[in-house]
Amino acid sequence: MTEKLADTYPMLSVEEAQERLLALVRPLEPERLPILEALGRVLADNVCAGTDIPPLDNSAMDGYAVRAEDTVGASHDHPVRLRIIGNLAAGYVSQQAVEPGTALRIMTGAPIPPGADAVVRFERTRSDGNGVEILEEVRQGHNIRRAGEDVRHGELVLPRGTLLRPQEIGMLASLGRADIWAIRQPRVAILATGEEVIPIDQPLTPGKIHDANSYCNAAQVLRYGGVPLLLGIARDHRDEVAAKIRGGLGQGVDLFLTSGGVSVGDFDIVKEVLAAEGQIHFWWVNMKPGRPLALGQIGGVPLLGLPGNPVAAMISFELFARPAMLKMLGRGEWAKPAIEAIMRDSITRKDNRRHLLRVQVQKQDAQAGTSTCYSARLTGPQGSGILSSMVQANGLAVIPEERGELAAGERVRVLMLDWPEGVLL
Ligand code: AMP
Ligand code: MG
Repeated sequence: MTEKLADTYPMLSVEEAQERLLALVRPLEPERLPILEALGRVLADNVCAGTDIPPLDNSAMDGYAVRAEDTVGASHDHPVRLRIIGNLAAGYVSQQAVEPGTALRIMTGAPIPPGADAVVRFERTRSDGNGVEILEEVRQGHNIRRAGEDVRHGELVLPRGTLLRPQEIGMLASLGRADIWAIRQPRVAILATGEEVIPIDQPLTPGKIHDANSYCNAAQVLRYGGVPLLLGIARDHRDEVAAKIRGGLGQGVDLFLTSGGVSVGDFDIVKEVLAAEGQIHFWWVNMKPGRPLALGQIGGVPLLGLPGNPVAAMISFELFARPAMLKMLGRGEWAKPAIEAIMRDSITRKDNRRHLLRVQVQKQDAQAGTSTCYSARLTGPQGSGILSSMVQANGLAVIPEERGELAAGERVRVLMLDWPEGVLL
């Protein structure tokens, strides 16, 4: 009966399924945040400069503030001698003007005193108490950082929609902004299902396995900037699944994830409960791993019914939950970073699904004049329950639907799961 029903579910491409999910998702509302807590968020308001940065002309070097015309003809062998009128630290403004024939000792960042129009750095001078010998001729503006050369008063510095990385946080601090409006994080409910699935702090008994999915999916939620809400495990009973779903919805969630129970087994009742509790569509997605996928809305919240096998749950998350989360976070771009690599193993397969193969990508020595080159190797058995080959992987090689066999040495596109610093670049 279930198998018959399954035949009627439409088969969608990965892109069609992604589109249908993304159509249910909107960017979330903004919240006010201290800037450091806004790292990784998207700015919800334009940020304009209230002042020039730097606010005043200032010295780019430790040295002497001088009048450039006083240095004409100065050289190592024919120095110009100037009288030192004072010493200016960063953070203070000089009351004294630099008159012809004088110089003011000045430290990096200190405002240029009146009368001076250049700075000669210490290394190009010789000093003896109250006099200094200038050993080079400098032009007006030499070693001076101009007021507003970084940012102009009134300028739009960070437009709404900007992803806040450490450099944007630094810019906000530089502008004197202690807090800003940023799109809030999605709250993502995670419910595991299955009679055999038990909490990770309980000892295994015959027939049982530990709940891996709640944790790998929650870690993915954290990695992509969401707040996971672990709802625990529901046994394969309609009432229990329904109660846990209602309990999760009561906590205020933006995205609902379940795992398991969406296939065609006798006890795969999750899909029926989902259909009863909300508007749910069941699809086959033409990919491997992760073919059964439930998608819809429950209590107005978008819901993804992920497959039960941990690797399938993780890969389905990458392809569907991740873009949904990024859209909620206000990000404009959610394509997974991808590279082209030379596949070291040959691939044969019997179906025409899009395969996502766990691979280890490595940098190869590029030949002279060619761009950097990467190679990819399968990390081991590709069964959708085999987490160890996921542990070894840093990428997912994409074998397109239409490809049959792939010979070793052919090029493949690889979605990067991560991009280890120092290894690949
Ligand atoms: P199902 O789709 O519910 O039949 O699950 C498919 C496979 O995934 C079965 O072998 C389950 O035991 C396994 N599985 C389901 N949920 C989890 C989980 N939370 N952690 C680890 N394995 C799971
Ligand atoms: Mg199950």
